[in-house]
Amino acid sequence: MTQFSSTPQLKDQILRAVQMEQLVGEEVTLQKRGNRLTGLCPFHDEKSPSFYIFDDHYHCFGCGAHGDAISYVQAQQGLGFIDALKWLGRRFGVDVTALDRSEKKIGEWRRRTQLAKLIVDAHDFFRAKLASAQGEEARAYLRERGLSVEVCERFGVGYAPDHARELYQFLSARGASAADLSEVSLVQQYRDSYFDFYRHRVMIPIRDIQGRIVAFGGRALGGQTVKYKNSRFEKGEILFGMDQARKQMRTAGFALVVEGYFDVIAMHQAGFSQTVAVQGTALTRSHLRSLASATPRVVLLFDGDKAGAAAALKVVEASLEVGGLQVQVVRLPEGEDPDSYVRKYGPQGMSQLLEHAVDLVE
Ligand SMILES: [Zn+2]
Repeated sequence: MTQFSSTPQLKDQILRAVQMEQLVGEEVTLQKRGNRLTGLCPFHDEKSPSFYIFDDHYHCFGCGAHGDAISYVQAQQGLGFIDALKWLGRRFGVDVTALDRSEKKIGEWRRRTQLAKLIVDAHDFFRAKLASAQGEEARAYLRERGLSVEVCERFGVGYAPDHARELYQFLSARGASAADLSEVSLVQQYRDSYFDFYRHRVMIPIRDIQGRIVAFGGRALGGQTVKYKNSRFEKGEILFGMDQARKQMRTAGFALVVEGYFDVIAMHQAGFSQTVAVQGTALTRSHLRSLASATPRVVLLFDGDKAGAAAALKVVEASLEVGGLQVQVVRLPEGEDPDSYVRKYGPQGMSQLLEHAVDLVE
């Protein structure tokens, strides 16, 4: 179990405050024998006293029961360690609210760990599905996009099968509750039933800077109306691919920012593994600070269309507030995105294009 940081000091404080005589005396009639207090042992049946109280512990010469005030309360009240500390604190006037606070923190931490495990289990499921017979269409789609098996594995790409509740059943069988699954957007409720949130989609895990999966992006394979679907995550904090791109940002001396996860994967495959993506079109101050910690130069590689231009403009204000960062922009030709461009012109063509980066802020 995780240690409470405040527990050792609090434990000493409580033990100092406790009067063993008073604590034990509430249940055991104590009498003086020599300069020690003794009574009938509360831990075993006896006719004559062999239970002794010392300043900081008790000891029974009959059954061997032995311990301090905390173990006494644990045994007598049937309490856990922390609850025994709280019980003693209240009884002997020691402030134990810090324990409530740490317990709350640990509760939240446990909860986050539980949800994180669900996400990891779901990821295992999606990856296994991509490799299975069910994943054939998804594999064909990835091949068509020109993505190698190797780069797909590096990004942990998977497949959510065309089935109403296969993931739900898989994770329920492992003890996951519907409420938890819907909190991490893996299932959704419809009337009294739960259904898989992602169906017949290529699944891309979205990771934080430490490489922990925080969400998924799903690209539709059939004729679904919603082409891209994401589970909830902090879009303003996470840069897709940052966990894998940081090292190359340092080596190359600049970061590349694109707009979609398939662009990132295609760029990494082409050797530009300093590429990350924003979800949606806004590059936030938090994104820029994260980039600034890895490199002094950021190159935005946005689509040639109007949305791309508008996105580039939005960055201006934010970048001015994050000092020491040179932000440049490369306009792709109309109708091209980084993925299509690098496929058409290769890594060399992309490198040439990048030489035409211009400063966003003069
Ligand atoms: Zn005893």
